[in-house]
Amino acid sequence: MRIGIDLGGTKIEGIILSPDGIIEKKIRIDTPSDTYKEILVAVCELIRTLQKGQGKPLKVGIGMPGAISKFSNTIKNCNAIPLNGQPMHTDLEVQLGYPVRLENDANCFAMSEATFGAGKTHNCVFGVILGTGTGGGFVVKRTVIRGANGITGEWGHNSIPASVRKFIKGTRICYCGRTNCIETILSGRGIRQTYLEISGEDIDAKEIAARATEGESFAKKCLDLYCTQLAHCLASVVNVLDPDVIVLGGGLSNIQQLYEKVLPEMHPHIFSDTIKTLISPPSFGDASGAIGAACLWPEETLS
Ligand SMILES: [Zn+2]
Repeated sequence: MRIGIDLGGTKIEGIILSPDGIIEKKIRIDTPSDTYKEILVAVCELIRTLQKGQGKPLKVGIGMPGAISKFSNTIKNCNAIPLNGQPMHTDLEVQLGYPVRLENDANCFAMSEATFGAGKTHNCVFGVILGTGTGGGFVVKRTVIRGANGITGEWGHNSIPASVRKFIKGTRICYCGRTNCIETILSGRGIRQTYLEISGEDIDAKEIAARATEGESFAKKCLDLYCTQLAHCLASVVNVLDPDVIVLGGGLSNIQQLYEKVLPEMHPHIFSDTIKTLISPPSFGDASGAIGAACLWPEETLS
């Protein structure tokens, strides 16, 4: 048994995960919105509640937005909650009195799929988040690859490829301070902006997908363009990492069209005559963050 915590901008979810990937217990609380200290206290309290009655403390993994700076051991690149610049890993271990593992939430998503989900029979799994942001995590043989700067998989902040940049109007500003990042076309906000440019109407991704299903021409055009943009952007990932499977996650991964259209559109942009890489829907939905966080402690480390 292990504990997994998914720290999000609005909710904190804690689970106890069995050795075969079954959620034995789940608790959800609201994320305190004001200060780092309140968030730290809430996470520790949730962990203590899950540990109650377990005897020897269970191993704890925590997924959160952002990355841990190797230089300062503090949180960076966090777009949602006031964790940036905070030594959260150290503070958690001091408060709890035992080691915990902390990982970027996209890496936890990839870890959940690589361990118990769509990537469990594959060695190299690239987990993609298409939601509020556009992120990713790369897992090889059930080990998260972090990289020299702790940013492996952050393809959302590469520039939009020129081949699809011509389809957007003007310049899109990214929250990271750069312009025309991939995230500005593939996130929920990105597809919303694209639809606005096509139709003059401001509606969210869910509504765009629903209207496309009903046959509305603007929505169909918008989704077709989104598939093309995603295909070109992911082809670059395949040329660099060459994963066995790409698992899509986040709110936009519910769009069924992605699983029919994106892979064929990627092929001309991948430097190989045969393409074995698969694109798969996620296995766990909202629970993937907490499951992946628990999987930061592989079975063999639990004795
Ligand atoms: Zn960016």
